[in-house]
Amino acid sequence: MPGLKQKRHLFFDLDDTLWDFQRNSNYVLRQLYSEFDLQAKLKTDFDGFLSAYKRINQQLWQQYNQRLVDKNHIRNHRFNLAFKEFGYDNYSENLSITEQYLERAPKGTHLKEDCLAVLDYLKPKYELHIITNGFKEIQAIKLDGAGLRNYFGQIIISEEHQMVKPEEQLFRLAERLAGAHTNECVMIGDNFESDIKGALNAGWEAIHFVEDNEPAYTGRQIKKLKELKALF
Ligand SMILES: [Mg+2]
Repeated sequence: MPGLKQKRHLFFDLDDTLWDFQRNSNYVLRQLYSEFDLQAKLKTDFDGFLSAYKRINQQLWQQYNQRLVDKNHIRNHRFNLAFKEFGYDNYSENLSITEQYLERAPKGTHLKEDCLAVLDYLKPKYELHIITNGFKEIQAIKLDGAGLRNYFGQIIISEEHQMVKPEEQLFRLAERLAGAHTNECVMIGDNFESDIKGALNAGWEAIHFVEDNEPAYTGRQIKKLKELKALF
């Protein structure tokens, strides 16, 4: 991969690129499934609940990224939409679970494998930044709790700028905030639409972090974060 070592600014996605969203989230969902006795109410095992919840959450986030729904819509409906898949409808309990989930999940500290070792390797050589589609107060808890904040110059959180990846304006804003030229920037992230297509559309290099076989994308890919040490 020629040219990557000449880049100066590496922009990382946060969720499921550095911070292990799936693992931290699943841990709390399992607690809540038990505490709210969802086995009896939904008549499904935890894996059944989890896969319905994840599918619905992903759909809602796609709608959010397309500006079709706002943050409160996601928060206030995702659990009840999952409940309804199992013939259970309880809006107020859904709100209680949402509240508990938002309180606990961001405090998770599991990072993707070798995350800190890779950041330690990159930090003396490049300027590191984050661009994340997420909510300001939630992302701040994750960054501080997991000891990530000090690695990064600019931490750009979509909610603070009323823009989301893959919108080009957010990448242009990131350049301005970092003092970077377009040809100095690389985006590293797990989401093909928002991270990779967004960055390429803005004229950046992009590295898709895919742990399992995913879309037929022939551009730059890594399966493990530690592969970045050979590229940079
Ligand atoms: Mg992500």
